[in-house]
Amino acid sequence: MEMINTLYKPTTLAKKLIVLAICGCSFAMNAQEKKLNSKKPTIDYSAYKADKVEMNRKIDSLISVMTLTEKLGQLNLPSSGDFTTGQAKSTDVAKKIEEGKIGGLFNIKTVEKIREVQKIAVEKSRLKIPLIFGMDVIHGYETTFPIPLGLSTSWDMALIEKTAQMAAMEASADGINWTFSPMVDVSRDPRWGRVSEGNGEDAYLGGEIAKAMVRGYQQDDLSKSNTILACVKHFALYGASEAGRDYNTVDMSRIRMYNDYLPPYKAAIEAGVGTVMASFNEVDGIPATGNKWLLTDLLRDQWDFDGFVVTDYTGINEMIAHGMGDLQTVAALALNAGVDMDMVGEGFVSTLEKSLSEDKVSEESIDTAVRRILEAKFQLGLFEDPYRYTDKERADSEIFTSVNRKFAREVASQSMVLLKNENNVLPIKRSGTIAVVGPLANASNNMAGTWSVATPQDKSVSVLDGIKSAVGNSAKVLYAKGSNLSYDKEFEARGTAFGKDIPRDGRSDEEMLKEAVSIASKSDVIVAAIGEAAEMSGESSSRTDISIPKAQRDLLQALVKTGKPVVLVLFNGRPLVLTEEDKTVPAILDVWFAGSETGDALADVLFGDVNPSAKITATFPRNVGQIPIYYNHKNTGRPLENKEGEFVKFRSNYLDVRNEPLYPFGYGLSYTTFSYKNLSLSTEQLAENETLKISVDITNSGNHDGKEVVQLYVRDLVGSVTRPVKELKGFQKIFLKKGEMKTVTFELSVEDLKFYNSSLEHIYELGDFEVFVGTNSADDSLRTSFELVK
Ligand code: BGC
Repeated sequence: MEMINTLYKPTTLAKKLIVLAICGCSFAMNAQEKKLNSKKPTIDYSAYKADKVEMNRKIDSLISVMTLTEKLGQLNLPSSGDFTTGQAKSTDVAKKIEEGKIGGLFNIKTVEKIREVQKIAVEKSRLKIPLIFGMDVIHGYETTFPIPLGLSTSWDMALIEKTAQMAAMEASADGINWTFSPMVDVSRDPRWGRVSEGNGEDAYLGGEIAKAMVRGYQQDDLSKSNTILACVKHFALYGASEAGRDYNTVDMSRIRMYNDYLPPYKAAIEAGVGTVMASFNEVDGIPATGNKWLLTDLLRDQWDFDGFVVTDYTGINEMIAHGMGDLQTVAALALNAGVDMDMVGEGFVSTLEKSLSEDKVSEESIDTAVRRILEAKFQLGLFEDPYRYTDKERADSEIFTSVNRKFAREVASQSMVLLKNENNVLPIKRSGTIAVVGPLANASNNMAGTWSVATPQDKSVSVLDGIKSAVGNSAKVLYAKGSNLSYDKEFEARGTAFGKDIPRDGRSDEEMLKEAVSIASKSDVIVAAIGEAAEMSGESSSRTDISIPKAQRDLLQALVKTGKPVVLVLFNGRPLVLTEEDKTVPAILDVWFAGSETGDALADVLFGDVNPSAKITATFPRNVGQIPIYYNHKNTGRPLENKEGEFVKFRSNYLDVRNEPLYPFGYGLSYTTFSYKNLSLSTEQLAENETLKISVDITNSGNHDGKEVVQLYVRDLVGSVTRPVKELKGFQKIFLKKGEMKTVTFELSVEDLKFYNSSLEHIYELGDFEVFVGTNSADDSLRTSFELVK
């Protein structure tokens, strides 16, 4: 049962209560349906193939025999409810499945349970339509990779694609055929807890990652038993919620949407993503779930999306609180806007029949939604074999294997960002005495991070275990917790929910600190594992103070005072304010939540077996007041031109803090150094039909082999609308042996120089452009320019 409990995503229980309160749905069967039910048509699905013409023909004939209840059933996606293996038949959900009132289920885990439920659908329901099974497989299934924000810092598209592929392989081996991922919401606000689930602040990088994830999950054939349907979410603009508070209002200009927030969703659609999830927020004053412009005009008419749209959890019902009308009104609004499947709230099944009789929706719209869902089921091969994803042998042999975990270890080490390394404190040696301190040092249940519903939490490798197994007998490892997560018990409880608790220590704060200082003083180096707990970010985990909780900051400063070298091993689901730590702690390694293999991967980096190469994909501010802060901002009419950050009256700056962030987008160190030279362009006058070649020589000038993420930025100097001070246009991750030099070449065409103008046309404009190639977004040392001509 523990497994199922962890499956219930954070808000499930709370949300269920809300749903019951506002939904009031009923499943009464009408007389006509009762009659139909006794005359079950015999349809042989075994001959169904995902061939398009054939598929359409079969779907037509299927729809023609469906009752309205059966049609609405296909649009209904409840959460499974809790049951143990062998009990499926007696659940309330089972009854609804038998009656054809459910199209799919989510939050159900294990091949046995899924098989049991599928059996009800294909043996007991009148039309035997198989169910689709979804889950939030966000960053791995049981084998868990870094949280998406961490994974994005690898800047390694092949690696990211492979994580999605492996997640699909494991999930599909356990009965799941649909994941609610990738989440591609661009966000410029680290107060928002869900930045942990996305890919940071940049639309271009976000788009590349979106494509890699979709390819990984779906590959080239959805009907293969090891690929699953992906769902890009949350459409759209969810990452721009006001004040970083979850579910809050979003309001932005169309030009900003098109240029800065929509590209990753569009990229996922171009990569062939099969489903889209509507977001909770409003877009232009209308909740996304009921927004026809968004779900039809943009998504289908402009972008040609032909899969199905699912709401977010009770998204339809929540439009009542948004002030859009009663349940019948908002359900009709959603269907007419372009929603196909209703997650959890049962607004469709409970009201659309009435709306149809009152001409508020058409049968054609219902049929269209049904068709899209049936198409997905065909493409998954479920009509051919409804048990395709329920192969017990695969479940026993392909999940959480040593091969998969080895790969997760590699990915984790590729996603750790070295933020500071004064006097080369890192890498450390496997000798002497190492003090491992901090409330996150011995907390395996927190290593996988938020949204790790299928992860066996206690099997993740803790920092302490990772270090101990890496040193064996060659060094002495001492451990002390040092502090609780926070002085504030209630805040701590809120951030350690859902089986991820870090039990509070019974001792006083002073006693814990004393013990930590005492072991630290006896050691050669101190590894301090501190920061946020896993559930301090993620859904409904917004913070207004994004520093390390005070209890841990006090611990850290006490450790620094011992005079021993301190390595801050930072856990966080968002950029944090680290101004004090950056001043006082010699080494900072950001591990995010690196997944099931965190401890071992961390040891690989700490001891230098892996040289860190990750770079942050979201700006780290100096204080909360700088938010929103992002690298690709506009220049303003009064930019602050001095680089020293000195305050200048009547320029765009602050009285109390400089403009630049603490760590800029694209920043991350290595144990080696790289020098950039000879930036050159193939031409200084680029004609519209030509390709510009930009090359630069990179040398590994330090003492370790290593990887570098080489970044290309462009500034469009004059435009018909204001343009950002720079925009990422390309990146390459290269490996260089120490002393080695490589020439890196980027190519740019007018396609890359396009943007949306004030009429929302996607265009390029002739004129001057500046080019920067560097080690992060603030690196202006190599720059040149070209002119785009006719
Ligand atoms: C989240 C989605 C998630 C869904 C299903 C919602 O609360 O916003 O991201 O996919 O629940 O668990």
